[in-house]
Parts: sequence; C-alpha cells; structure tokens
Amino acid sequence: MRFYIDDLPVIFPYPYAFPEQVAMMNDLKRTLDANGKAVIESPSGTGKTVSLLSLIVSYQMHYPAARKLIYCTRTVPEIEKVLAELSRLMEYRARYNPGEDEVKDEDGVERELPLPKGQGQHEDILALGLSSRKNLCIHPSVSRERRGNVVDARCRDMTSAWACEKGRQEPGSVELCDFHENLGKLEPGHLLPHGVWTLEDVKDYSREQGICPYFGIRRMLPFVNIVVYSFHYLLDPKVAEQVSKEMSKDAIVVFDEAHNIDNVCIESLSIDLTRPMLDSAYRSVDQLAKRVDEVKKTDAAKLQDEYSNLVEGLQQSSTEREAETFMANPVLPEDLLKEAIPGNIRRAEHFVAFLKRFVEYLKTRMRVLHVVAETPTSFLQHLKDITYIERKPLRFCAERLRMLVSTLELTRLDEFAALQKVAAFATLVATYDKGFLLILEPFETENATVPNPIFHFTCLDASLAIQPVFERFSSVIITSGTISPLDMYPKMLKFETVVQESYPMTLTRQCFLPLVITRGSDQIAISSRFEVRNDPSVVRNYGSILIEYAKCIPDGIVAFFPSYLYMESIVSAWHDMGILEEVWKYKLVFIETPDAPETSVALENYRRACDNGRGAILLSVARGKVSEGIDFDHNYGRAVVMFGVPYQYTESRILKARLEFLRDNFRIRENDFLTFDAMRHAAQCVGRVLRGKSDYGLMVFADKRFARADKRSKLPKWIAQQITDTHSNLSTDMAIVESKLFIRRMAQPFDQGAKGGVSLWSVKDIEERQRKEKEHFERLMAQDGLELGEDGALDGDVIDFNDPETLEAVERHERELEAKRGGSAAQIEELADGEDEFDGQFGDGRELEGMDVDA
Ligand code: SF4
Repeated sequence: MRFYIDDLPVIFPYPYAFPEQVAMMNDLKRTLDANGKAVIESPSGTGKTVSLLSLIVSYQMHYPAARKLIYCTRTVPEIEKVLAELSRLMEYRARYNPGEDEVKDEDGVERELPLPKGQGQHEDILALGLSSRKNLCIHPSVSRERRGNVVDARCRDMTSAWACEKGRQEPGSVELCDFHENLGKLEPGHLLPHGVWTLEDVKDYSREQGICPYFGIRRMLPFVNIVVYSFHYLLDPKVAEQVSKEMSKDAIVVFDEAHNIDNVCIESLSIDLTRPMLDSAYRSVDQLAKRVDEVKKTDAAKLQDEYSNLVEGLQQSSTEREAETFMANPVLPEDLLKEAIPGNIRRAEHFVAFLKRFVEYLKTRMRVLHVVAETPTSFLQHLKDITYIERKPLRFCAERLRMLVSTLELTRLDEFAALQKVAAFATLVATYDKGFLLILEPFETENATVPNPIFHFTCLDASLAIQPVFERFSSVIITSGTISPLDMYPKMLKFETVVQESYPMTLTRQCFLPLVITRGSDQIAISSRFEVRNDPSVVRNYGSILIEYAKCIPDGIVAFFPSYLYMESIVSAWHDMGILEEVWKYKLVFIETPDAPETSVALENYRRACDNGRGAILLSVARGKVSEGIDFDHNYGRAVVMFGVPYQYTESRILKARLEFLRDNFRIRENDFLTFDAMRHAAQCVGRVLRGKSDYGLMVFADKRFARADKRSKLPKWIAQQITDTHSNLSTDMAIVESKLFIRRMAQPFDQGAKGGVSLWSVKDIEERQRKEKEHFERLMAQDGLELGEDGALDGDVIDFNDPETLEAVERHERELEAKRGGSAAQIEELADGEDEFDGQFGDGRELEGMDVDA
C-alpha cells in the first residue's frame, strides 16, 4: 500500500499495517527531518524491520539528497533477514514504478497501482551486507578453516600489500589469492551490479565471476545506498576506522536489537590480559627480534626506508591498510596521524626492546597476590618509575607494531594475536585517563589458592565508543523490542533525542498473557534472592511450577534462570527431589550449556520434540545465547518461565567499578542500573515467546519481586500494560488455572477479519486517523488561542512553531496522545511490599558472599 506522512509517499509492502508500525514510521520521519537521534521501542513481532526499511527507503528515494543507510544488527542470520526483507520491499516498490510501456493498458486507460506481482521497474539501488572473512571467503582451502582468526591470518598472508607486490613481481614466490587478484583487474565501483544482495547471493555471484566476495563488498562500500553489518563495524574503533570511515556524514544509522548496545561499547574498548597471553606475547617479541636481525643482514635498506617514513609521520603510511584489520590501531585520531612517531621507537630494534620491557613489566605486575585496582594515570606513573617508559611512545605502540609487521613481511599473524593485544592495551591505557580502570585479580575465585591472574583493562564509560558515531552521523536510531526504560540509554551514552517512544501493542485478542507468580501453592513466597534461593521450599515450589506447566501446556516450554550456577544447583536439587522424573512423564528436558555446539544440538532436538508432538522443556539462562538470539515462535514456545530476577553477579569488581562510575558521572543509582539491567534481560527472555500477532504464548515471571512496581515499570510498555492487578500476585495453582483458560481460549478459531481497523490498518484507516489527529490538533490550537486571549480564535491562522505557546500546545497534544495509547509506565500501580532489596548493599562497604546479590 501507499500512504503519505506529511509530503512523503511511503510504500509499505503489505495491504495492512499495524498501528504501532504507522506510529513508528511517523516518529522516524520526524527524526530524519530533524536530523536527530531517536530511541524507539516497538513490541516483538510487530514488523519493526519492515517499518524501518519502508520509511527510510521511501525517504531516500523521495528526497534528492539521497542519504545512505547504515543498518547495524547483531548476527549473520539477522543480517540476512534484513536483506531478504529489503529485497521483498524493493520488489514491491517496483510495482508502484511502472515503466513507460506499463503506464497504460492496451485500451489506453491508465493502469491502477500497484501493478501485478513481477511487473514494474526496479529502482536503482545497491544494498549489501558485510560480514567477516570466515563467512564470506570462497578460497578452496582457506574457507575450510574453522577458526575465524586463522581464516583472517591466511587471507592476510596472500593479500597484504607486500605479499601482493612480491607475488606479482616474482610469480610463484608467494602464494596469492586469485579471487583477490581478479578484483584488481575490474573497475572499482563496478564490482557488483545494482540490486539487493544477501551474503549468499554475493558469494554465488563472486564464484561465477572469480572474484573475492569479502574484498568486493568492502571496495563497494563507498558506492552503496544501504549497508547492513554488525554493530562492531561502527562501534569497535579497531574495525570502524577501516570499514566505516568513508561513510558520508549525512548517512542514517540504525542500531537494531540495541538493548545491549552499552555492553557492546564497553567490550569494544576493554581488554583482558592473562599470564599465558603475556608468555605468548613475549615469545612473539623474541621472534620479532630474530626477524629484525635477519632483515638487517639481508635487506637493511628496508628498515632504513621504514625509519625515514616514520620521521615524516604516519599519514603517508595509512594508505595500505585495507587488508590489515587485525593489526589495526584501536584509537588513531587524526591529530595522531599527523604526528611523527617518537624517536625512541622509530628504529625497529629499539621498538622491539621497548616492547620487551613493557611485556616484562606486565609479567612482574602479575606476580602480586592481592587485588589491585588503579586508574590509567597511576598505572602510567608506576610504569614510568620502574621502566622509564613514557606515555607518548606507548600511545603509538599498536600503530608502530602494525608497521613493523608489514615491513618484516611476517606471515601467520594469528600467532601474534597476544602481542597485538598487549600493543592495543598500551595504546588505550596511554590514550584515555578517564572512564577506565585497571583491575588485577590474582585468583579466579575468592576461595582459589593457586594464582591465575587476570589483568582487566576495563572501560566503564559506554559513551566513549559510541561518541565518534554520534559526532559523525546526525541521524542515529536506536531500537529494540525491549529497550525500556528509554531514558537510560541517552543518559548512559550521552546524547539527546528528538524522539523517545515506546509503543504499546494493539491486540484484537490478547495473544500473550504475562503472569507473576509470587508464591507456591503452599503460600510460601518464591524468589531467587540469595538468602532464600536454595531454600528447599523455594526449590520445590519452582519444581512444581515446572511440573504443572509441563502437564498443561502443549508443545514447547522454555525456562530461564538468572545464571548457569543457579541453574545447575536447582537442576541437581530437582533431580534429588524426584521432580525431574515427574517432568519427564510429560515432556523431554533439554539444557543450555556454555558450550555453543552442545547447545545447538540440544536446540535441534528440542525443536524436533516440539514438532513431533512429544513436547519439550528447554532450560536456559538469561544473557545466554538462547535468550539473545533464538526465537521460540508458535509451537516452539507456548510458555516462557522466568525463574527469578536475572540480576548480574554483583560481587564482580568490574561491575562494582562501573556502578560507581555511573553514580558519580551520570547520576544513575546502583539500584536503578541493576534493576534496569535485570529487567531488560528478563524482558528479552520472555519476549522470545511471541514473534507475531498470530502467535500466542504465556510469559510467566516466577519471583515475588516481579510484583513490585519498580520492577514492572522497567519492563517494556507493551508487556507491562498487559500485567493486570489480578495477574500480578498469583500463587502457582491460581496461575495454572489462568494459564489453562488462556490456552483453551487461544485454541478457538479466530476471525482474522476482526482485526481490521483495530490492530490492522488499511490505507483508509491510516488516512482517517491522520485526519482525526489533524482536526484534534487544530482544535487544541484554537482552544489555546482563546485561552491565551491573543487575538481570538486561531482557526485558519498560520501556525508558528517557534512560538513557545504553540510549542506548549503541541506538547500537550502529545501528552494526550500518549495517555490515549495507554499511559506511561510510571502510572502502573504500586504493589510494593515495603522492602527495598538493595538496602545496605552498596556504599556501606559490606561485602556479600554468593554469586548474585538480591539481598
Ligand atoms: S581474498 Fe577473499 S577469497 Fe581470497 S582468501 Fe581472502 S577472503 Fe578468501
């Protein structure tokens, strides 16, 4: 269908749209018009991706300044999903774009749009996905390697600047990749024809043409209209500098499934060093030293050339970086590029000695037997006192290493990974003084006696990694199905929004039922709080929830626990109590483990059991792979049970440091952050059950703390709104009665036509809605004019949006709309039982034992 938002014609590839999709497109248009940033939460399964793409592509096509779209998502299947959706959209758009001979039929009558399927002209657009070499390589032997870093290293050996030069001059001296070589023969910018390409499409096409898909896509990036890749390509400075630096500033950036974006930012700037890593780095330094000696004897001019280049500065040497993402510098700001490398690390042998001293220093630091936490400044001071290493050369360490590796023509760079990490650490520690902490933990656990030290260089400030993105691109959209509370993200990531919206879910039949079980059938409260979590009555009550649901829910049930440790302890207790034996009578039980291949086998069998009617239960953990990326739609998940509130392990020193940082710098209280984090993960878990409005399922929150308003207000609006008072404080047997009723209700035939105008809008419904909103707005304006006593009725006057009174009226109107949509989360009634869970946990120095603190 085609409808208008202001003057923008939007082509949407379905005959109906959900109201939340229309609302989202309206807000997106506002964001793009204002060149601003938005945080948007849209319920799971309501077609977020297609709404984003429809609006943005319509925007790109309609306005002359065609802005690029950078669409970031998390996994390869998600990249493929977005590209497939985009391909469908472009097919559909073609039907609104008749060719010259399609405008009229044989009788000369103008034809109605959309044209029948398969007709019309495709618009000129190039859309590509980008992933790692591991997923794209088509080289017969390299693509067979199982580990990503080995694929990277082997590819680099054949494609680095020196290898190509040497291989071309003396054919046969170095193995080159033909697919890469063939690329060079084609004209850049014409490596792939226009169209929407999934990763598999590009691979097939590249095989036919004999070119490398990975480098083909990278070289086409300056020419694409839409690129879809993972968050890291924008957020990880090591990769972003290489891949995304050519993206124009007016590009539109979308971060989809971005509920964890703060953690991605933090991880991209944090480094952990262990003892074996330092040993490996030390060996690599020795190898470097040997190689420098060799080259000195055989080809001293090469080292001399490198030295002369370094005197001139880094700018010149930055051209040949295409192939070398592995050796990239984590932070290489423009000003640094202009500077010359400090004198004491210009000569290869000096730099090698410098690295050696630094690694030795780190090894010595690891010998301590107590925990050390220090800031980068104090680390650098200590380093200087002991080794005379200054901050400046340290800052250039990663870049200098990259150049040396290239000069020495080293191969199999995966073996230098540890040294590269040390160099990246050196650069980061010398670049940032705020927002980072160094924590040295000599023992793995509190009770361990054998040291196994880890040096954490941890980033505490998520805004550091994303700041360059905000500075560079004006339109950034952060969205997810579970991103509440919305104001947390602008605070943590330091940005201002034009739109901050959470849409409720419009339903003609309530297709999901959230229930909060606060106590067992014996009326004993249930909770995963540390003090009571292993209490036999709690364990038994959790067990009976599982048994009861196994009895009455058809097909698949997914149960989530706050952590692996807790899951293990409770499953073994269930085994001893005979609970598992009872569950087995009704369903098979599968379990998620930290081992990915093991989990995928479990998942496969779980699905098989759901398909053949046997029914199964999958036991998983919040924050695990299953909770983040697997959908349990239809028969694969008729109920999700969240056993406990998934708080993080608050005894972690890193988390404590981050909480302190958030409190001191962003005024975010520890409790607020911990609850926010727990609830976003709980929402992620239960959100798995519903993947569309034709789907249905139960969301069971089994912990008495979920009944509290402070928890529920942090759930996404579309879930929180459906938790009625009667369903927010149930015992197990009451919940089972409600669940049975729900499942029976859902099993009845449903008239899809009843959704029309309510949860499904046609073009007419949309236009009618727009007309009503306009009328309402005008009425409000007129009322305000009268109230303000300016010059009588405002009807028909020109609306001045710079006028503060007009703005006030607009805001009032928005508030009214908000209320109409169902009110804000803050209005949810308080059901608190008077306790404050985190009282006394932070700031009073009291240490708590255990794996997570739900005091
Ligand atoms: S150049 Fe391309 S095809 Fe050749 S090894 Fe590298 S990734 Fe594989």
